[in-house]
Formats: sequence, C-alpha cells, structure tokens
Amino acid sequence: MSKRYGRQTHAWQVFRASVIADCDGICSWCGHPIDLSLSGRHRYGPSVDHIVELEDGGQLLDRANAQVLHAVCNSQKAGVRGGQRKRERKRGGSGLNSGRFGGTSRDW
Ligand SMILES: [Zn+2]
Repeated sequence: MSKRYGRQTHAWQVFRASVIADCDGICSWCGHPIDLSLSGRHRYGPSVDHIVELEDGGQLLDRANAQVLHAVCNSQKAGVRGGQRKRERKRGGSGLNSGRFGGTSRDW
C-alpha cells in the first residue's frame, strides 16, 4: 500500500496555484527559467516541490517548504534523493537546495 498525501485535494490545487503564481519563475533545481504558462503535465511545466519531503516530515501545504521546479527536474530530484536515501541515512539537511532554508545560522 503506498501512502497517499492527498495531492489531488482542492486545498492542494489552490496551494499549488498560489505557489506558482508567487514564484520567481526560476527552477530551483537547474536554475533555468520555467514557462509558467505550460501545464504541470508538460516536462518543462511548473511543478511544486517540497524542500523537505513529506516523508521526511515536510508539510504538504507549507508555503516555506514549497519551491517550483520544472516537472522534469522535480522527478530528477526525486531520483537523486531516492538514491541518497539508500546510501546515507539522513544527515540533517542534505547538500541539495539547502542554501535558503535548512541553513544553520551561525549568527548567534
Ligand atoms: Zn529545472
């Protein structure tokens, strides 16, 4: 039984649309612009990704945990993360995309 996170709910659709409307149009994975007029089903269409994945405790509808990637980059990221997960057991903040959020602030 695979666990479903309710991505098809109305709340998710609304959330997704607002994250996309609000983003800067740059893919956080490859750094290239995303054509926001494309459908999310298009390879290069916008896809909302969770920075901290849901299975790692990230919240589905948390704005601070959402970023916009190309659909194709999102699946690439999932593949990389999947591979990493096998090798190293979570070290508290992967090296990927950790710039903006999981940053350990040393300013204390
Ligand atoms: Zn991309």
